[in-house]
Amino acid sequence: MRSLLVLLWAVLLLAAPIGAQQAPRVLLIGLDGFRADYLERPAALHLRALAARGVRADRMIPAFPSKTFPNHYSIVTGLAPEHHGIVANAMRDPALGLFRLSDRTAVQTSGWWGGEPIWVTAERQGRRAATYFWPGSEAAIGGVRPSWWYPYDGTRPNADRERQVLEWLALPPDSAPAFIALYFSDTDDAGHRYGPDAPQVDSAIARVDAAVGRLVAGIARLGLTDVVNVIVVADHGMAAVAPERTIVLDDYLDLTTVEIIDLNPVAMITPVDGDVDRVMRALHGRHPALSVYRRGETPSAFRFRTHPRITPIVAVADDRWSLVTRGPRTREAAVQAVGGGAHGYDPRLPSMAALFVAAGPGIAVGRTVPAFQNIHVYPLMAELLRLRPAPTDGALDSVRTILRTRGASSP
Ligand code: AMP
Ligand code: ZN
Ligand code: ZN
Repeated sequence: MRSLLVLLWAVLLLAAPIGAQQAPRVLLIGLDGFRADYLERPAALHLRALAARGVRADRMIPAFPSKTFPNHYSIVTGLAPEHHGIVANAMRDPALGLFRLSDRTAVQTSGWWGGEPIWVTAERQGRRAATYFWPGSEAAIGGVRPSWWYPYDGTRPNADRERQVLEWLALPPDSAPAFIALYFSDTDDAGHRYGPDAPQVDSAIARVDAAVGRLVAGIARLGLTDVVNVIVVADHGMAAVAPERTIVLDDYLDLTTVEIIDLNPVAMITPVDGDVDRVMRALHGRHPALSVYRRGETPSAFRFRTHPRITPIVAVADDRWSLVTRGPRTREAAVQAVGGGAHGYDPRLPSMAALFVAAGPGIAVGRTVPAFQNIHVYPLMAELLRLRPAPTDGALDSVRTILRTRGASSP
């Protein structure tokens, strides 16, 4: 009887597809500034193929401000920026000083990073994680870094990033990372420089789309198609800007009386003398394309009120408008310098809509799901990885339709 059972077990093991016994993994690919509708552009063919055997969202709604660092970090923590503390790409903290994304010391200082990124959740629960560039991955958060990570270097060729990710995936199952994050900046770079409608954006889409295609093919070659859930996301979209839609702040405000820590298209303003009323009087209602709020009175949909790193005044330009200061230039030169694309605007705008495409053993097949906020990606990834999620602003119930129904997934 016993030997019969052993035989049966051996037969089942051999009959099972390669990888079916392995714990599921997640490869999260961040395509900076890949607007949701870019998926329809001809160059995005591998991404559309991925969506066809998985799920695509009508769009993913970014957090406010629709900038790179706040959103990449919301995606991996499930928290709104007012809760995770990365409230802008540039900010000031009374204890920590200045944060800029080009400042290696700041990005590696754990005090800036609140919440629990998914790689920390994984490492704490005995799974390994690897990141090839992701905001937050260079700091020890709660004392934990991914088992593998790199200091950010935007000049690192995409091919090197791909090769490393495939090497991680090829490690023996008990040492391979269960969670991998990977980042490409091509679409954001081209969108800023040339504007979202330019042919250079199509070339950038083609480059990152080809990278996704090669990664998916590599996963198949490794026999891991039934193990790895591939999730491709963007942090925000891109809007076309132009000189005729420019607000020059010097026209309204003596800039020597304020600190503007981040400017365009969301100005984070602190009056030097603490006189918030004075600055509100100077700016509020003065330009039809500029909304000006006190901290604590920003639209509730922004969820951008409570964190002390939010400045006392937040000014937000309308879609496709630019906020500039003259600096040493003439007013005319400052205005004429505006061009290409920008983001940071109200996350509900279609221009800020972000890509979400996913496919893999835990993901439904051939489904399009309605728009959802990026804070729900963390609970989704925790579910796919069978991890206990940290408490977040996100909810698995908001994205449950992305999952394969029980019984349809691999055993
Ligand atoms: P944004 O203008 O908000 O879209 O910022 C995009 C820029 O952020 C990219 O062009 C990169 O230069 C930069 N960036 C992206 N990821 C990182 C990172 N992990 N560390 C530092 N800078 C980064
Ligand atoms: Zn970005
Ligand atoms: Zn950008």
